[in-house]
Amino acid sequence: MARDPVADLRRIAFLLERANEATYRVRAFRSAAAALAKLGPGEIAARVADGTLTKVNGVGEVTARCVAESLRGEEPVYLRRLTATEGSDVGEAAAALRRALRGDCHAHSDWSDGGSPIEEMATTAIELGHSYLVLTDHSPRLTVARGLSADRLREQLDVVAALNETLAAADVDFRLLTGIEVDILADGSLDQEESLLAMLDVVVGSVHSGLRDAAEAMTRRMLTAVANPHLDILGHCTGRKLAMGSDGGDRAHRGGRGRPESQFDAEAIFGACLSAGKAVEINCRPDRLDPPKRLLRLAYEMGCAFAIDTDAHAPGQLDWLHYGCERAALCGVEADRIVNTWPRERLLSWAATH
Ligand SMILES: [Zn+2]
Ligand SMILES: [Zn+2]
Repeated sequence: MARDPVADLRRIAFLLERANEATYRVRAFRSAAAALAKLGPGEIAARVADGTLTKVNGVGEVTARCVAESLRGEEPVYLRRLTATEGSDVGEAAAALRRALRGDCHAHSDWSDGGSPIEEMATTAIELGHSYLVLTDHSPRLTVARGLSADRLREQLDVVAALNETLAAADVDFRLLTGIEVDILADGSLDQEESLLAMLDVVVGSVHSGLRDAAEAMTRRMLTAVANPHLDILGHCTGRKLAMGSDGGDRAHRGGRGRPESQFDAEAIFGACLSAGKAVEINCRPDRLDPPKRLLRLAYEMGCAFAIDTDAHAPGQLDWLHYGCERAALCGVEADRIVNTWPRERLLSWAATH
């Protein structure tokens, strides 16, 4: 039984307004509802069938997806998420996600641009109750961050192995997992030796250069990286930096201390992550909070898995997980979709399947 898509869109707009969400988002649903009301049910169904609904002025990808779901008789995912979080306390949902997290998949030591030794990062992670921390120092081409050459990374693997032996001998239920935040190069290849990437427990791949590339080039570059079997997690996908104004606001300014989002076909990228079983990172750094909520929602609605990562460059920053949990809770992400709520063994076998 088909539902009334116009009613569903209006309901979504109402719930967004009540939750005090950004006006542009509310407007997207209100304009789509108005445009569709004018078309009438017959033409809406015909346009959904031939994929031309987004050609209607005021109807975008997200609203079109809601309409298609309504016509199939399903409550749109977007509406279901709003209804599920409606009236519930986002703070409580975020706290529950934080409690569900067992580790962190992105952190730096003083081997690259972090401020503290590996042991200090590991000790702090243990004190925070983590069952694992993935050490992800930078790769060679990121010279500004003292990226690790293949030889230094090999040396680091020995240090990590020795540390884990000590922990095992002391019966500590924590492991420092080997990893890297590998640069996604201009052609989409990963900036480290293939055989080394294959040895690591978890590989985070991030774009750090050419962030202003045209959308087509950036999309191709990221698709190539996501398709690389070594990549497990797509790090801070838009590369944006927030200007940390006095309002602590979530606004990316051009220039100043902020950096705009890089442009790419988000549906294509998240679709590739979904089909390859890769996780989209929810980066907790207050100056990143990447992806922005509209993309986080899109990735969620498409069915992607996530990793809530601190990207800590100092021990205290390992406790920034709650920033990412808040955003995940706001977007309705459930704990099981988040790979670092999984036990260590499950995380490791997931990463090993790629
Ligand atoms: Zn990075
Ligand atoms: Zn990083």
